[in-house]
Amino acid sequence: MITGKAKVAGVIGWPVAHSLSPALHGHWLAAHDVDGAYVPLPVRPEDFSRAIGGLARAGLAGVNVTLPHKEAAFAVAHDCDAAAKAAGAVNLLVFGTDGRLLGRNTDAMGLAASLGESFGEDFLRDRAALLLGAGGAARAAVLALDTLGCREIRILNRSDGRAATLAKELQPRVKATLAAKPWNGWESAAVDVSLLLNTTKAGMAGSAPLVLSLDPLPLNADVCDIVYNPLETELLKRARARGHRTADGLGMLMHQAVPAFETFYGVRPAATADVRRALEKALA
Ligand code: NDP
Repeated sequence: MITGKAKVAGVIGWPVAHSLSPALHGHWLAAHDVDGAYVPLPVRPEDFSRAIGGLARAGLAGVNVTLPHKEAAFAVAHDCDAAAKAAGAVNLLVFGTDGRLLGRNTDAMGLAASLGESFGEDFLRDRAALLLGAGGAARAAVLALDTLGCREIRILNRSDGRAATLAKELQPRVKATLAAKPWNGWESAAVDVSLLLNTTKAGMAGSAPLVLSLDPLPLNADVCDIVYNPLETELLKRARARGHRTADGLGMLMHQAVPAFETFYGVRPAATADVRRALEKALA
């Protein structure tokens, strides 16, 4: 039940109808019997900062931020945590009672938690990983792999130059060695890695699938695709058929939302099998 004292939060994006966050937070609100609500907030890019000002004045606890607003949220935040500064992007804006906006980025810790849960906390310690993509999610992925003790992260991106820029910008912030490799150098880059991580949009509904032969990948390497629509991408299907352990994008989605829910409503939820089932239902 909702009362006049309900805590309200939401997800701001454009478009936002495809977001799984309302289903996810809605599941936890019901499970924890919280007096609160979580709503989708479709806001055009040109209206973003005015909308944020209004939502903060209306007493919301904060918002999750999705595409295309993550950089704009970084720009409007008065203060940002270290992960948001490293990513140059904010996926959680917390509205302070003093009118200040705190920007956080929980994608990196969400991905690290998901990988640790799927493959074991130490599966990447002192090992090499191959990261596909150089967009916003790839930035979070570099931080996540570094947190897991990864020794070397090889970054490959379809468009020339972006992988090198990402490696150069993030190298001072991480212990792992970052190495940009050419997209067509996939075969030699894959030989001895322990993880293949896709953070590109390839394989996502509406995008072309990832066109890479898995032959050069060691058979004991793990494979993760952070795309969650569809849940089983072509990449994961092919990896499973070769016997690799795999992780899909729902784990990251659930884990990145845990600190947001706790901040909005004061209860720390868990990314359980029940929540996963609720999300799979929402996706279907
Ligand atoms: P960006 O737009 O910032 O980056 C997109 C990346 O995908 C770029 O590196 C781009 O390469 C690459 N790309 C796009 N199409 C292709 C293709 N056909 N072949 C090869 N590379 C391609 O997006 P984000 O980084 O924000 O998001 C990427 C994906 O991650 C999305 O599918 C998103 O849904 C998912 N995601 C999942 C999360 C989760 O919680 N599970 C969290 C955040 C994102 P180029 O530079 O050449 O254009």
